Amino acid sequence: MNLASAAGITLEALRRRCAGVALLTAAEDTAPYLSDHRRLYHGRALAVALPQTVAQLAALMSCCHELGIGVVPQGGNTSYCGGATPDESGQQLVIGLGRMNRVRAIDAANFSMTVEAGCLLEQVQRAAAGAGCYFPLELGSAGSCQIGGNLATNAGGLNVLRFGMARDLTLGIEAVLPDGRVFQRLRSLRKDNTGYDLKSLLIGSEGTLGIITAATLKLWPQRHGSSTAFVAVADVGAAIALLALLRGAAGERLNSFELLPRAAIELACRYIPDTRAPLGTASAWYVLCELGSFVDEQLDELLQNTLAQATSAGLVQDAAIAASEAQRRAFWNLREAIPEAQRRAGPGVKHDISVPVSALPAFVAEASAWVAGHVSEGTLVAYGHAGDGNLHFNINWLGGAASAADVAAQEPVIRRAIHDLVAAHGGSISAEHGIGRLKVAELQRYTSAVELDMMREIKRALDPKGIMNPGKLLGS
Ligand SMILES: Cc1cc2nc3c(=O)[nH]c(=O)nc-3n(C[C@H](O)[C@H](O)[C@H](O)COP(=O)(O)OP(=O)(O)OC[C@H]3O[C@@H](n4cnc5c(N)ncnc54)[C@H](O)[C@@H]3O)c2cc1C
Repeated sequence: MNLASAAGITLEALRRRCAGVALLTAAEDTAPYLSDHRRLYHGRALAVALPQTVAQLAALMSCCHELGIGVVPQGGNTSYCGGATPDESGQQLVIGLGRMNRVRAIDAANFSMTVEAGCLLEQVQRAAAGAGCYFPLELGSAGSCQIGGNLATNAGGLNVLRFGMARDLTLGIEAVLPDGRVFQRLRSLRKDNTGYDLKSLLIGSEGTLGIITAATLKLWPQRHGSSTAFVAVADVGAAIALLALLRGAAGERLNSFELLPRAAIELACRYIPDTRAPLGTASAWYVLCELGSFVDEQLDELLQNTLAQATSAGLVQDAAIAASEAQRRAFWNLREAIPEAQRRAGPGVKHDISVPVSALPAFVAEASAWVAGHVSEGTLVAYGHAGDGNLHFNINWLGGAASAADVAAQEPVIRRAIHDLVAAHGGSISAEHGIGRLKVAELQRYTSAVELDMMREIKRALDPKGIMNPGKLLGS
């Protein structure tokens, strides 16, 4: 039997046994699901399945398990690692979660909410606000990524310093396992020591152990106020000293601490309309930091006093505190414009690394020196969530300095050098974006044999047929 007729028979079985699941097969319908956000990967698929209920998804997974069909869960398809793109075989089934997008319940007294996996992050934030609460996960992709994808990748973002990563924000999970069984653990408890933490295992598993269908999330009271500053600092060491000063003075009120090099500001201002540098002082590095509070207090005064102290200590060269919500938004828009500006500026090599915060100055100095010595015509644009020790240590070739093919040819050498330095500083080669397809080999290189064995044994136990997101995270 040829592949086309085998696929036809498989699709017929899926249609017959999975009533209610929309199955897209026409090229124009499936196209948006077959390439990743960065256009690094282009796959083919047997079909794209769009279930609307847990029961429909369970029936679908049971059928795929029986027939040995590889499945690729897909949320908002904003992954930077190709995690949600099928391979080129045309034999895998993409399962889109977008139709499972109900807010099931909000319990304001318990500060928790239960939402389905296909809810956009922005929708979750808005629903929480509508109930007088605050859900603190904040990413530049909030308008297109889904909460299921956020949990599957254990997303980080702008508020990790204060509130933690997606795993830290989750009380309960519901998921369909590879054989179609439903794992129901939508408890909304802060305390629950009853055996292995299976919810935490599913969070960050990038669709390789099961499909998350719903989650119970932690909420906080609505924020009362914030104070946001754009600060010029001489170098990364000064930025890290400022971070310590702010943590000491503001404690838990420090929500965000982003490090931005001048090259990133210049790119954003050049390529993204309506962005401009907030300070007249030209500096090599800038910090965007924000304090937030749940009670009424003088945050501007606190921030101003701490920055004055940092100026006296020689850490700060210039600073502006947002005088209005519009100015605060302008600071953040500038920060959030950087990834898109990089995309428009030309081809590049991206790294999503973390090292202990105390090691950031030495890491940046060593890695920058390596780039200067080995990457001709590349511009270093290393920015990110420095308060968490996380930097997007990216290199761009601006204005036609190199073709995409030239950059791709250099990428393995660059990646190896940067990741070796990260490892030497006790860091991680994937701080928040995950492994997906992009970093399968990197995970093998930088993870101990014991850890890899444990991961493979867990994978075998839960997915013995290897149908969940084949080729991602642990590879084949
Ligand atoms: C402009 C921009 C800014 C970004 N900023 C950040 C940032 O600050 N921090 C950060 O961490 N990331 C960031 N990202 C990356 C991305 O948005 C996150 O990784 C996000 O969590 C992915 O969600 P998604 O719904 O798009 O998932 P997808 O891209 O669809 O999928 C990602 C992975 O999760 C799996 N998956 C998706 N849904 C499910 C499910 N329901 N069950 C099981 N597995 C599933 C997929 O198979 C895939 O492996 C950014 C991306 C963009 C484009």
